[in-house]
Amino acid sequence: MERNTIVAIVGRPNVGKSTLFNRLSQKSKAIVIDVPGATRDRNYADCTWHGRRYTLIDTGGFEPASTETILIQMREQTHLAIEEADIIIFLMDGRDGLTPADIEIVQLLREGGKKVFYAVNKVDGPRHEGLLPEFYRLGVSRIHDISAQHGLGIDELMEDLSACLPEEAASAGEEGEEEDRIRIALIGKPNVGKSSLLNKILGYERTIANPTPGTTRDAIDTPFEFDGHRYLLIDTAGIRKKSRISLSLEKYSVIQALKTLDRCDIALLLIDAEEGITDQDTKIAGLAFEKGRAVIIVVNKWDLVAKDNSTVGRYVRDIKDRLKFMDFSPIIFVSALSGQRVTRIFALVQEVYRQYTTRISTGELNRKVMEIVSKNPPPQYQQKAHPFNYVTQVSIKPPTFAFFVGKPAEIHFSYERYLINSLREALGFTTVPIRLVFRRKH
Ligand code: GDP
Ligand code: GDP
Repeated sequence: MERNTIVAIVGRPNVGKSTLFNRLSQKSKAIVIDVPGATRDRNYADCTWHGRRYTLIDTGGFEPASTETILIQMREQTHLAIEEADIIIFLMDGRDGLTPADIEIVQLLREGGKKVFYAVNKVDGPRHEGLLPEFYRLGVSRIHDISAQHGLGIDELMEDLSACLPEEAASAGEEGEEEDRIRIALIGKPNVGKSSLLNKILGYERTIANPTPGTTRDAIDTPFEFDGHRYLLIDTAGIRKKSRISLSLEKYSVIQALKTLDRCDIALLLIDAEEGITDQDTKIAGLAFEKGRAVIIVVNKWDLVAKDNSTVGRYVRDIKDRLKFMDFSPIIFVSALSGQRVTRIFALVQEVYRQYTTRISTGELNRKVMEIVSKNPPPQYQQKAHPFNYVTQVSIKPPTFAFFVGKPAEIHFSYERYLINSLREALGFTTVPIRLVFRRKH
């Protein structure tokens, strides 16, 4: 199972990074979660270019506190891209000409060893093409002139870039021997205890490799067994790696999560018991939800909390309240340090995975849907017994159900909510996300 290729846009403020980001991500529809903070300031998106998938990141959205000079910000951004991305688009501004900051960043990019595509933006038409020659002083062999705003030159840039993207992934059945292992990712902000939990689970000594800039290559996954079941911990190298940047800026942990979520079945979302749930946790949770992953919420550092009878209840309420969109996710309280309840995580993983991979027969499904609908028919269908001609499960991970209807657009969001909640209950999907798709009947 491959993760998406990460493409990062780097460049000075105002060169047009977010304009380019919007243009490239426009057509890719995202699942929108109705949680304040979860989708605000979106600066990453799953995109496709002629069938090839990639994840686009606007590094401008990760700017550090702006008391720092532009050059320092730029260096951080560039280091982030070099550490975390597979491909970098370095964007410059044709109207400004080549600036000293551009020259310095290009130097950093060269040392970084990642594939870089250079583009000069705001070349809005032939009369601006004279802006280009000075950029060749950089000694770069190919510089694309584009207008992010007017959509010029984008095809040529992406044509070049997409040659570095993998072909459409092979179908699921071809993934080979690792398929019988449950793939687990540990996600959460810096210092929440991911590598401590990893070490506890694997029973290793705590060892942290020194991060070496530019040596981030393919993720290393670690297979292990517990209680006779086979698991794979995704990107153990990434968890151990203590990047200077990800430690100083917790927003960057979103990128780490983004990369592992493509490749796991179940995400263990770690929350710091001492801090309680934060905006950053909500963001990472939102990402896991968008990606359709099953999530187990692991409240770590439980040893540090002074507890009374109402403590657990209070934590549960608070978490469910902040993570309404995944209030079905199980919550467990652990200490990675002492090992308290760590092994119990696996009983949860087993149950969640069972649900995540459950297939419901079409007969049973249609009977259940019939009951659910007759109890509470959609308003515009009051006269009709059953608005859905036919329902069938089209996939697992997450369980996804196709409803064949007369007019898909007429299923109201709130009715979809009702269907999801009722189906979850009726079919026993109590701990995992499920999805509905509405299709026009043929
Ligand atoms: P960022 O700070 O790098 O993300 O830059 P923005 O995308 O916010 O763009 C900065 C300004 O440049 C905005 O006013 C944009 O409308 C403008 N801009 C972006 N792309 C183009 C372009 O292709 N041509 C022109 N003329 N202006 C552009
Ligand atoms: P990561 O950045 O998410 O990988 O976090 P680490 O595993 O490096 O942990 C950050 C700090 O929290 C370290 O000092 C750990 O010793 C500490 N820590 C991790 N888990 C626990 C825990 O369950 N209880 C306590 N008291 N400290 C913990």
